[in-house]
Amino acid sequence: MATVAGVAVEGGHWIGGERVSSPATFEDVSPIDGQVIAEIARGGAEEADAAVRAAEAAFPAWSRTSREERARLLHAVADGVEKRLEQLAIVETTDNGALLRSHLRGVMPRVAHNFRFFADRLLELGHEDFDTRGHRNHVSWDPAGVCALITPWNAPLMLATWKIAPALAAGNTVVLKPAEWTPLTASLLADITAEAGLPAGVFNVVQGYGEEVGAALVAHPGVRRISFTGSVPTARHISAAAAAHLTPLSLELGGKSPLVVFADADLDLAVDLAVEQYDNAGQVCLAGTRLLVEESIAEEFTARFAARAGALTQGDPRDLATDIGPNIHPEHFARIDGFVRRALDAGATAVVGGGPNTDLGGLYYRPTLFTGVAADSEIVNEEVFGPVLTLQTFRTEEQAVEMANSTRFGLSATLVTGSEERAARVTERLVAGTVWVNCFFVRDLKAPFGGSRQSGVGREGGDWSFDFYCDLKNTVTAPWAK
Ligand code: NAD
Repeated sequence: MATVAGVAVEGGHWIGGERVSSPATFEDVSPIDGQVIAEIARGGAEEADAAVRAAEAAFPAWSRTSREERARLLHAVADGVEKRLEQLAIVETTDNGALLRSHLRGVMPRVAHNFRFFADRLLELGHEDFDTRGHRNHVSWDPAGVCALITPWNAPLMLATWKIAPALAAGNTVVLKPAEWTPLTASLLADITAEAGLPAGVFNVVQGYGEEVGAALVAHPGVRRISFTGSVPTARHISAAAAAHLTPLSLELGGKSPLVVFADADLDLAVDLAVEQYDNAGQVCLAGTRLLVEESIAEEFTARFAARAGALTQGDPRDLATDIGPNIHPEHFARIDGFVRRALDAGATAVVGGGPNTDLGGLYYRPTLFTGVAADSEIVNEEVFGPVLTLQTFRTEEQAVEMANSTRFGLSATLVTGSEERAARVTERLVAGTVWVNCFFVRDLKAPFGGSRQSGVGREGGDWSFDFYCDLKNTVTAPWAK
């Protein structure tokens, strides 16, 4: 048990309704100041197996629990999240360095909403029965079984609950493997589910490294669904493991999304939206990291952007006035810096930032904007996952579409334009799971969410989540004799 920002957090796994330790542990370090904040159990194949077995044992009763009762329990979990909102917010900030202000105002309320939304949606789930030559077709969503959920560190609880809530609502049992850099809020969620009265074994958490407990979990024959959010290289490992048992997969992966600004745009709005791409120190999968700006306004846009970016306050994410906090981990920081150095070596110009924030030290990286970047350069094509944007210019709408789509990813795209007709023409041609026009990051859980190309496989949200977490069954019944 550790005390993090005044909150008691268990460092063990949560398996079958009990805390379980492992012979080995690892240190959880805060990116804010490099302090060790907790000792966490380092699980492996044994813990993965124990968690899957606990989830298998809990499945028959949970899958037969009425929809109303499942929904009631998920609302009770949401109540628990709301009751402990401040604790979850400060623990998450201490663990991953994202802004406390965002956790308090946006992220943690949405965590509760994730549970409420899928609880309510469950009660509405259903198709109209239909007839085929007098035979009645009835479609049902049968729970699939044990779901292995593997999640990243950039928005730990938020992204995990996008998966946990629909998986449980659908009548499945869950084993969650949070990222090893951010294990804490998953552990608090385990406490909350127990307080809410979720039966033992319905929700389980295993802690540890991806290559150890994560790999063992996705390779387990008892797992019926794997839902993964993270990077493309890890997705390849997980897909290979899933292939052995043909376990259905949902993959939410990286991006290199375009933010396209046309000359007819409201320039203030365009600059606001572009600066927003530094949110969470650039560690947002959806971030529009490639700014594509119509040539005629590029100079003015760049000047205004530089002024706005220069005015951002970087510092301790617990301070409510801070705009940009630290990046997650020394390893990731070095990766970001490597991309920036190579871009500079290749001749790019850093019109904003261009290196670590040496005034602050630690893991604080200056928000950076590069111009003079070649279309085939690394910095334009690879996901940096840090506060690093590039700016390229275009002359025609045709060229803008081509540049926007010239990536192996397809997660999101943002357009800024004053023309409704142009927006309709361009969005139709963009390859992306989500397109925003004159806005960014507006998301309704009713909408499908996911990526095209190498940004992912499948969609989450609304009924799409239930389609994934269930075995859909069609029952065809002949007319009954009267
Ligand atoms: P990552 O792939 O390194 O790790 C993600 C998770 O996978 C972690 O829990 C890790 O422990 C686990 N893992 C690693 N190797 C594994 C293995 N062999 N078997 C099973 N599990 C394994 O990703 P990350 O660095 O934590 O996250 C950043 C990436 O996630 C970025 O590419 C980002 O774009 C992406 N992301 C995508 C979305 C989305 O919704 N599309 C959202 C957030 C982040």
